[in-house]
Amino acid sequence: MANAPPNCPRCGRKMIAVSPSEGNGPSIMLCRACDAPDPLQSEVVVGWIHSTLRPPD
Ligand SMILES: [Zn+2]
Repeated sequence: MANAPPNCPRCGRKMIAVSPSEGNGPSIMLCRACDAPDPLQSEVVVGWIHSTLRPPD
């Protein structure tokens, strides 16, 4: 059922699957280390950031 998320090709950390806010597209694989620095480029990432991390001051 739930496939294990792949490791990030850049840093090797385990990635996380994020469902699009619309809920009708494929999950997007994100890496906490590599994708977090540019959250403003994706509202999906922004939603993920707000749900798991505190926004930077
Ligand atoms: Zn990474």
